[in-house]
Amino acid sequence: MTHGLLNFIGGQWTESNAGQTLPVYNPATEEVLADVPLSTKDDLDLAVRAAAEAFASWSRTPVPRRARILFKYQQLLVDNWEDLARLVTLENGKSYAEAYGEVQRGIECVEFAAGAPNLMMGKQLPDIATNLESGMYRYPIGVVAGITPFNFPMMVPCWMFPLAIACGNTFILKPSERTPLLANRLAELLHDAGLPAGVFNIVHGAHDVVNGMLEHPSIQAISFVGSQPVAEYVHKQASAHGKRVQALAGAKNHSIVMPDADLDLTVKEIVNAAFGSAGERCMACSVVVAVGEIGDALVGKLAEAADRITVGNGMVEGVFLGPVIRESHKERTLGYIGGGEEEGALLVRDGRQDEASSGRGYFVGPTIFDQVQPGMKLWQDEIFAPVLSIVRVDTLEDAIALANRSDFANGACLFTRSGASMRQFRETIDAGMLGINLGVPAPMAFFPFSGWKKSFYGDLHANGTDGVEFYTRKKMVTTRW
Ligand code: NAD
Repeated sequence: MTHGLLNFIGGQWTESNAGQTLPVYNPATEEVLADVPLSTKDDLDLAVRAAAEAFASWSRTPVPRRARILFKYQQLLVDNWEDLARLVTLENGKSYAEAYGEVQRGIECVEFAAGAPNLMMGKQLPDIATNLESGMYRYPIGVVAGITPFNFPMMVPCWMFPLAIACGNTFILKPSERTPLLANRLAELLHDAGLPAGVFNIVHGAHDVVNGMLEHPSIQAISFVGSQPVAEYVHKQASAHGKRVQALAGAKNHSIVMPDADLDLTVKEIVNAAFGSAGERCMACSVVVAVGEIGDALVGKLAEAADRITVGNGMVEGVFLGPVIRESHKERTLGYIGGGEEEGALLVRDGRQDEASSGRGYFVGPTIFDQVQPGMKLWQDEIFAPVLSIVRVDTLEDAIALANRSDFANGACLFTRSGASMRQFRETIDAGMLGINLGVPAPMAFFPFSGWKKSFYGDLHANGTDGVEFYTRKKMVTTRW
């Protein structure tokens, strides 16, 4: 039985005035879980008014009191960890183990935000001149909005709202219309933690809500995470309307494997990074750059390891690779696999042949191409699916130069035992999130998520002290005594 999702506005579950809804599918079974309203600008306006009203008192609520609500919230998230993880798997498809890990990443963001009394502190210089002192005080900025993608329904919203509200802002979330269920659970738990009405709001929908947010005069800042073209658009539009904006975008992450790498560790890490979460991670490894003589052994072992992967419903124990998010995304992925063969890349493992790929649910088995050339679509585009491309080069310098040719620069990894190679990589790679001997340099609540080039639009990144800067503004006070 399906049900229509409600918006959460001013502490009330509120029906959208939208005439249109979209079905929310379980991608593993194709079952319809709910209908999500395509809310209108009027729905958004209601939420902005509620958030603006709540801002007056929330921004003046003592910071330790705000933090105490987040402590309570953290406890509720921990108490509901398994249920939250099940909900992530249900609507997104990733394995329960991955979903469980995602919930942890989200909880860590709440833990970081609960340090608000420390994070919100200003600075003073008692003697900036004779009898003059100067000090910086930090304040919230107002109503802020968050727009999130389908691939991390728990973690990505948690990059935004815990810190935003801890800093004294009020928040409106527009979750992905493809994975909107978890957001409502987050709102219920915030309510249970004692968050005052209007501090956190949800308006479900798609383009109309986003466009409304970008233009709304009472929204001060936009946090966006999603695909590159939309990130670029959001950044342009929001900036044109005078808003602060951070827009985290797509990726094409390269993993460089040196001849001296620990082969077993490398294969384990790359298989997880390429095929975990069905490749639907902005930190997924989508290109392996094999340096020198390690290539043949590496490709052989990657194919063997991919053969051992269990594909299926992420709820089932032992399943590693779940479905991609929608039928259309599966079709697009199959298009890239067919296109890769036409472009002349060598198909080493064909995920289309896996049994799950022809049954119910949007499954594509792990797919590996060798002999991929820069310039091929396989190398260039973010496929966002379990498709791994391998490029062969002779030297580390060539490998780094190749990775640096990509328009994207979210992350990059190096597998080596050499300190000199590690240093050369760290100093010359153009990417913001680096991994050494690990496949997924995952974003952490405590540090900024530092994508570069077309993987990020804006100035201040999400998380860590960048996040605090993004969600606050300052007053400088100079006093004569
Ligand atoms: P998406 O761009 O399709 O959607 C993201 C959000 O934007 C959704 O809320 C959606 O409703 C909205 N949106 C989509 N098209 C729009 C349009 N034309 N106008 C206005 N709003 C629009 O992204 P997705 O498919 O949900 O997520 C996957 C993408 O997100 C991948 O490219 C992935 O790399 C990226 N991502 C990046 C990071 C990062 O930190 N850099 C993290 C997670 C995901």
